Amino acid sequence: MKKWMLGIVTLLAASSAMALTPWQKIDHPVAGNPQAIGGFSNGCIVGAQPLPLNSPDYQVMRTDQRRYFGHPDLLAFIQRLSAQAHQKALGTVLIGDMGMPAGGRFSSGHASHQSGLDVDIWLQLPRQRWTAQQLLKPQPIDLVSADGKQVVDRQWQPQIESLIKIAAQDSEVTRIFVNPAIKLRLCQDAGADRNWLHKVRPWFAHRAHMHVRLRCPASSLECQDQDAPPAGDGCGAELASWFKPHQPNVNPVKTEPPPLPPSCQALLDNHFVNR
Ligand SMILES: [Zn+2]
Repeated sequence: MKKWMLGIVTLLAASSAMALTPWQKIDHPVAGNPQAIGGFSNGCIVGAQPLPLNSPDYQVMRTDQRRYFGHPDLLAFIQRLSAQAHQKALGTVLIGDMGMPAGGRFSSGHASHQSGLDVDIWLQLPRQRWTAQQLLKPQPIDLVSADGKQVVDRQWQPQIESLIKIAAQDSEVTRIFVNPAIKLRLCQDAGADRNWLHKVRPWFAHRAHMHVRLRCPASSLECQDQDAPPAGDGCGAELASWFKPHQPNVNPVKTEPPPLPPSCQALLDNHFVNR
């Protein structure tokens, strides 16, 4: 690529990161029966609910960003997971981004989290609950070595594995994204009980958190599920390919977003006309 072209690309990237999407200007859920609409990376949600911010089992980070909305199934999952973590004395579960009040696209940071069925959960489980200050400016723990090849033993804890396993064994969960080095460690430690590894997918970044995705709720007729992950525990050739010099799926070219699902477009039109 020529230098001047690179400049334009950088400029475009910078301006698109600054401009808010219309979804970021919607500050309350859209009333109605809960419906996850469209895909995880091109969708929206009607009838989203806020995750209750007070719980003995979990804490919600960066509440100032107001990204703690989701489908009731997602709220129920977070509560179920955290209660199990509490029961097993794993520590406090730290909840990061879910979705915005009406879901939809962010200007930066996430491609998915659009239909109220995705949540980022941090891979650290404090023994002592965090203060309000800590929750507003949370410090991630990077679990992966600088070369990306393994987890940092000093930071790795059996509680982290237990948390990922409990999440993966939940029947509503379809995929969990973690860094390839974290998946590798899970593969090495799993022993004979390996079925749950099927849902744990290697992906870029995700060095300090896991991204959990639920299946489409049965009552959300316009929700688009992904195909199931490939069969097997995913610990073989596919995982190994992530550690080769040329990683799979590297696509630095920014493409135009696809058109919105009609119901999401209608939701936007309605919202901004009625103001
Ligand atoms: Zn995520």
